[in-house]
Amino acid sequence: MDPRVKQFMSQIIAKNPGEEEFHQAVQEVAESLVPFVEENPRYKHAKILERIAEPERVILFRVPWLDDKGEVQINKGYRIEMNSAIGPYKGGLRFHPTVSLGILKFLAYEQVLKNSLTTLPMGGGKGGSDFDPKGKSDNEVMIFCQSFMTELFRHIGPNTDIPAGDIGVGGREIGFLFGQYKRLKNEFTGVLTGKGIEWGGSLIRTEATGYGTVYFAEEMLKTRGESFKEKIVTVSGSGNVAQFATEKATELGARVVTLSDSSGYIYDPNGIDTDKLSFIMELKNIKRGRIKKYAEKYGVEYFEGKKPWAVKCDVALPGATQNEINEEDAKTLVNNGCFCISEGANMPSTPEAIEVYLENKILYGPGKAANAGGVAVSGLEMTQNSMRLPWTRKEVDEKLRQIMISIHETCVKYGTEKDGTINYVKGANIGGFVKVANAMLAQGVV
Ligand code: GLU
Repeated sequence: MDPRVKQFMSQIIAKNPGEEEFHQAVQEVAESLVPFVEENPRYKHAKILERIAEPERVILFRVPWLDDKGEVQINKGYRIEMNSAIGPYKGGLRFHPTVSLGILKFLAYEQVLKNSLTTLPMGGGKGGSDFDPKGKSDNEVMIFCQSFMTELFRHIGPNTDIPAGDIGVGGREIGFLFGQYKRLKNEFTGVLTGKGIEWGGSLIRTEATGYGTVYFAEEMLKTRGESFKEKIVTVSGSGNVAQFATEKATELGARVVTLSDSSGYIYDPNGIDTDKLSFIMELKNIKRGRIKKYAEKYGVEYFEGKKPWAVKCDVALPGATQNEINEEDAKTLVNNGCFCISEGANMPSTPEAIEVYLENKILYGPGKAANAGGVAVSGLEMTQNSMRLPWTRKEVDEKLRQIMISIHETCVKYGTEKDGTINYVKGANIGGFVKVANAMLAQGVV
């Protein structure tokens, strides 16, 4: 490791003990940025790299609620307001038992650079709870969301901090959260994104992360004269990101052969077509069942407790969660001929896996660039809310596509190496950083 990165990281680790995922996210960025900051001393003197690693504000609160049996439950609630240099804090809420301060700080840190890459004026934040919506009744989810918002409402606002969804927070949860905010504030505003279409939501928001990940991959493929046509694609996850990545990749001529959940993955060599995808959507979004059911219905193989990375593919779209591809998985993917990875999830590859991609010079789009389509359409939802005028599906989709093309161009601008290959990690980190850093310089030591 570069000794300057090592020294920088030893301070980060000492100041944020035990927050491993946060260290991982900061280190990946530091490896691209420490040399860049050395070449641009104005950022160094203003300690921008140190400042962006310290949240502007962290809010921690108790979320008490009564379950269906009348028993008292207590969860933790969090909101990390990371950086507001280029716009109000913006980023999702995650409800999952693994949620901790370190996980949310890594996500908030990534969000700052991701939001900057979208070209839209959004700062970065993230929040959530260790509440597990899995196995809870609709009533319990509602009671929990109402209690969560009863504290959070005083910290957020359409010009201050605009949360949205992430793992465990979809349309149902955003509805309950919005209802409670409106009741407490007596205001109908665009304080959350991912709202329903009838009450201030944007068309394409649900599809945006998955579509955007595929649009980004399409741009990467173009640099090698390739496209999705007839490509074999592996997708992990089966939530919102995975579903719409599957839909778009299939529409562009690819054959998507895997989907997964936390219990295992299904392998369908014939491809997950539109009808099969409708089954998945009903299974996951309405019945809230397990992916295993797909294997039973269509008579395909199901691999309990496994991830889909041993399946031979041309393109991989990780869409589940952090650190779902390790070094060994990455080697298997590359050895099997996979030459393009576009991350729909946040930080799904370990640092060792990223090393493997970079050494082999495959097309690798890191999450902060490749999955920025979701928050980008959230930004477009905010614009429509401010105008009080909705755009059509076609208009939003076209804007999303343009944003993904522009993020790709930024990566090419800052990430092209001497040998002509594109290092998208470096490109995304520097490209996201410059705008935030310049705004911080202009605004003084705040
Ligand atoms: N949770 C998504 C992300 O990781 C979307 C955030 C948003 O729409 O604000 O970017």
